[in-house]
Amino acid sequence: MPNFRFIALEKTLDRKAIPYEMPKTKPSEYFGEMTFNLSAMKEYLTSEAFAKVRSAIEMGEKIDRRVADQIAASMKAWAISKGATHYTHWFHPLTGSTAEKHDAFINPEGDGKAIENFRGNELVQQEPDASSFPHGGIRNTFEARGYTAWDPTSAAFILGTTLCIPTIFVSYTGEALDYKTPLLKSSYVLDEAATAVCQMFDKNVNKVFATLGWEQEYFLVDTALYIARPDLVLTGRTLFGHASAKDQQLSDHYFGTIPERVLEFMKEYETEAHRLGVPVKTRHNEVAPNQFEIAPVFEEVNLAVDHNQLIMHIIQMAAKKHNFIALFHEKPYKGVNGSGKHNNYSLSTNTGVNLFAPGKNTKDNLRFISYIVNMVKAVNDYNDLLRSSISSAGNDHRLGGHEAPPAIISVFIGSQLTQMLDKIEQSETSKGMSDDLLEGINIDVPNIPEILLDNTDRNRTSPFAFTGNKWEFRAVGSNANCGKPMIALNTILANQLKIFKKDMDHALASGKTFNDALFVVVKQYIIDSKRIRFEGDNYSESWRIEAEKRGLSNIKTTPLTLNTLTEERIVDLFERNKVLTKRELEARRLIRLEKFTKKIQIESRTLGDMATNHIIPIAIRYQNTLIENVKGLKEILDLQTYGKVSKNELDIITRISHHISEIKKGVDKMIDERKIANKIVEEEDKAVAYDTKVKPLGEIIRRHVDKLELLVDDELWPLPKYRELLFVK
Ligand code: ADP
Ligand code: MG
Repeated sequence: MPNFRFIALEKTLDRKAIPYEMPKTKPSEYFGEMTFNLSAMKEYLTSEAFAKVRSAIEMGEKIDRRVADQIAASMKAWAISKGATHYTHWFHPLTGSTAEKHDAFINPEGDGKAIENFRGNELVQQEPDASSFPHGGIRNTFEARGYTAWDPTSAAFILGTTLCIPTIFVSYTGEALDYKTPLLKSSYVLDEAATAVCQMFDKNVNKVFATLGWEQEYFLVDTALYIARPDLVLTGRTLFGHASAKDQQLSDHYFGTIPERVLEFMKEYETEAHRLGVPVKTRHNEVAPNQFEIAPVFEEVNLAVDHNQLIMHIIQMAAKKHNFIALFHEKPYKGVNGSGKHNNYSLSTNTGVNLFAPGKNTKDNLRFISYIVNMVKAVNDYNDLLRSSISSAGNDHRLGGHEAPPAIISVFIGSQLTQMLDKIEQSETSKGMSDDLLEGINIDVPNIPEILLDNTDRNRTSPFAFTGNKWEFRAVGSNANCGKPMIALNTILANQLKIFKKDMDHALASGKTFNDALFVVVKQYIIDSKRIRFEGDNYSESWRIEAEKRGLSNIKTTPLTLNTLTEERIVDLFERNKVLTKRELEARRLIRLEKFTKKIQIESRTLGDMATNHIIPIAIRYQNTLIENVKGLKEILDLQTYGKVSKNELDIITRISHHISEIKKGVDKMIDERKIANKIVEEEDKAVAYDTKVKPLGEIIRRHVDKLELLVDDELWPLPKYRELLFVK
């Protein structure tokens, strides 16, 4: 029988870097050339249609069918000129990936000929069969239709030969079946609430939007090695594998030299990303071996979320061309750092101001303090919602690990801001809000914009940290659709800003001066949300104990975090802000529970199958060799020498037997537990059973398999080992 591990290793060792030929022109010349962006629109649209799209993008105005027809015709002309033959509505169903169904432009004409066609109604709306997408009981079974509808704020783009049109995806009855719909709604309410607050400080502000800059981490593994690991292929992570003698302990990988083969791959995805208008900027090695990161310049949140989904696709496509597979799983390797996707978040105004950057005068800084305090308050009041917005089967392995934020959501603001908030808290009058307080952040130095707060004052262990002019939500998993945490952040912040506006109006109505009113309101928020602020080491045991005292939630696994979604307080939050309805939230909770269960189920089946069909037979084969050897020794040696010599081998034979029988026992028990879990009707109970009964058995089985890996002859071992997966380039 061939040993696929060695075949794979041989292939891998033969690999040469495949040179990627960069375009001859500068990135600025091909940036966005595959997107129907404003400049392409300007060229292809009539000035009337162009004006309409522009106001749709900038002011959210609706586009009528007549104009839509014009836009569709122009979009088609543009796409065909770029070699596109098909089009698709591109959307983010609740599976977590993206979906597309390609239709050709070509239409028969009846006289044996055909023409390329694309009408306004095909651009604006489609009716894909929604029955195969998760709907959490929203759709009646007899009503399989769902609608996709064009989102003009995210430019259409061409992937390969297909024109992709970003769309929302809703059920026949209008409920959201995707991430984009509630994200757009949350952006709308945030704009409303944040603009109203801005106007207290500056009447010129009439639009506020959230900005997102994600940092995507991933691992690369050679395709041949990947294929020789059924667990990677089926579950995205290794279910077995003893730690390599060397992994990341020397930290010699972080920011290290990028290997040539990887560099060629990076050049390729970067060019592709730029042609598709994704402003990627940074690439580097991460802490773990064969782990990398990519980060773009930040963008408006809806666009940034689309671009993140797109980049994951682009990376995977480019990786395959260079014989790599990109692993986006949060924890592909046990004992090695997992992958996250830090979500850097801020607010921008139409006047070009970053609302989380300290300003240049007292008024700006009062606005800055207000926004900071409101954010802290929002996270304090809804930390459980943020926690649930980032939970998934994959992220469960990462959160609370030694390199990742814990499952406790807290906020880090740095020493300077802490001092400032403490000072306000301790002041009795608004004098504390005046110039001397803000002195520390009030810079009058020209040419030094926005790096005012000490950027080195960082706490890498915090799940939600202020980093000078933005917030960094670090607990997000590498595989997540950023839409989920962004919907939560936008909504809780919008909600809080509305409350703030009301509290301010109330204080002003009672005759207070603006500064006095602000002081009273902000001071109260600081007191109310103090428990969420934590500047220390989030990885420490003492923080766990302290957080419990403070009443912060610390839910470690996904199924229980999802209860939050349907709590009355949360339903009320989303309904009041018109982002999601109770029915939609219930559906989302069910979908995520089902998804969790299925993931653990697939892992458990894969693990059982591999243990039984790959590992045990090999262990037995090696054991037989040892037994033969012992028998042979008995024939040639006198009894006393035999007794001495065979001792070690007999010991190995017994240990192998022990592990085999434990694996067998574990697999049988796991199958029994699965059977019990599968009979449970209630989705939550089922997910909990998979989490607490099935999953731990997998861990036990794994321990014995990993022990066998150390005992069995390396030449027989069928699965690429950690040292190979992580170090072979
Ligand atoms: P790191 O966190 O790795 O030290 P940086 O702090 O330089 O890196 O920035 C990381 C990310 O923060 C980038 O993706 C960048 O686009 C994003 N970012 C910077 N400013 C903002 C902002 N105002 N809004 C949202 N994201 C931002
Ligand atoms: Mg970062």
